[in-house]
Amino acid sequence: MEDKDHIINRLGEDRHKYYNAVSPPIIQSSNFAASSVEDMRKMFSDEAGSHLYTRGNNPTVEILRKKVAALEHTEDALIFSSGSAAIANAVISQVSQGDHIVCVKNPYSWTIKLLENFLSRFGVTHTYVDGTNLEEMRAAFQENTKVLFLESPNTFYFGIQDLSSCAAIAKEFGAVSMIDNSYCSPIFQNPADHGVDIVIHSGTKYINGHSDVVVGIVCASNKIISQIFHGEYMTLGAIISPSDAALVIRGLRTLALRMQRINDTSIEVFEAIKNHKAIRQIFFPFDPSFPQYEIAKKQMTGTGGLFTIIFETEDKEALEKMIQKLNLFLIAVSWGGHESLMFPSICLHDIPGKETPPFDWRVIRFSIGLESPKILINNLLAAFDVL
Ligand SMILES: *Cc1c(COP(=O)(O)O)cnc(C)c1O
Repeated sequence: MEDKDHIINRLGEDRHKYYNAVSPPIIQSSNFAASSVEDMRKMFSDEAGSHLYTRGNNPTVEILRKKVAALEHTEDALIFSSGSAAIANAVISQVSQGDHIVCVKNPYSWTIKLLENFLSRFGVTHTYVDGTNLEEMRAAFQENTKVLFLESPNTFYFGIQDLSSCAAIAKEFGAVSMIDNSYCSPIFQNPADHGVDIVIHSGTKYINGHSDVVVGIVCASNKIISQIFHGEYMTLGAIISPSDAALVIRGLRTLALRMQRINDTSIEVFEAIKNHKAIRQIFFPFDPSFPQYEIAKKQMTGTGGLFTIIFETEDKEALEKMIQKLNLFLIAVSWGGHESLMFPSICLHDIPGKETPPFDWRVIRFSIGLESPKILINNLLAAFDVL
C-alpha cells in the first residue's frame, strides 16, 4: 500500500516547476514554444517525452500517464478520450490486413463492435473462445494470430481468465496479450505481473470514480507505448483535454480508499441478500460458490462492486414495481462512480421498433457505490419483498 500511496500522492509531480502548488496546474495550452532552434530540435527528437504539442504530450496529462503506468507496474501509459478509444487504439496497433485476433467470449459491447463491424472491414478476423478453457484457447491460435484479447473479470457475469497461463499461451504463438482490467482497477489486479503485455482501462469507471469524465488508459512497455504513440495515438488523436486530466488526477487521489470501501460494502451487501427468495441466481466473483472463486481469490486482491441477479418471477409488472422501490440505486448504464446504480435488462425490452435483446428481462446488474452498506441492504431487501 505504501508504494501505491507514493504513486497517488507524489509520483510525477514536480511542484517546484509550478510555484510549489500542491495541486498540479491545468496547462490549458495546445502548443509549447521552444527557446531556440536547438531546443526545438530536441523537442522533435522525443515528441512523446517533451512538450511540443498537446495532441502528443501535455504536462497535466503527463502526470496522469506516469501515475497510472506506475500503478499498473508498466513502464509507460497513454491517456485516451474514452475506454473504447483506448481499446480500439491498442488492438489496431497490433494488427494489419489479413491478421487474426483471439478474444474471450462476450467482451464489452463496443469491443464486440470493434471486432465484428470495424476490423472486419479491413480484413482482420477473430475467434471467440471460452476464457476458462485453455485448450480451446490454444487451439484457436492460427499462424496469423497477432492478439489475444482478455477481459477479466467480465463486467456482467464475471468470467475470469487465468492470466499467467493466457499470457504464456500468447507468447508461445508470438502474439501480444492485452486485457480490459476496468473491473479490478490497478488496486486489485496488476495483469502485467502475470506477463500480460497491454493493460487497458475504462478510466470512466473506478479510476476517475466520480461519474464526471469519460477517459481511457493503455499501459504497456516503453516499446509498445512508443509504437502506439507514433502510430494510432497521434494519427487518430483521441486525446483527453488537460482539464479532464486534472479531474482524473483528483479522482485518483482516493482510488485506493474507494476500492477498499467498495470491496467491503459489496461483500457485506452480497452476504445480506444472497439467500433472499426473490433471487433465482446471483453472480459475484467473491461468492465462495462462484465457479471461479479460487482463481478470483488468487489473482485479485479485492473485488469491484458489480453483481448481477436473475430474479425469480414471471411477472414483469412486479419487477418494474421492485425497480421503482430501489430508490437508492439510480437506473443507469455505466458503473464505478460514487453512487449506486442498477442496469435492468427490462429497459432494453419492449422498445418500439427494436428487436428483443438476447438478455432475459429478469436480469439486473447492480453497481455498489460509496453509500453506507446498511442503507443499501435495507433498500434492497425491502424492494425484493415486492416479488
Ligand atoms: C465502460 C467500459 C468500457 C468502455 O469505456 P468508455 O470509457 O465508456 O469508453 C470498456 N470496457 C468495460 C469493461 C467497460 O465497462
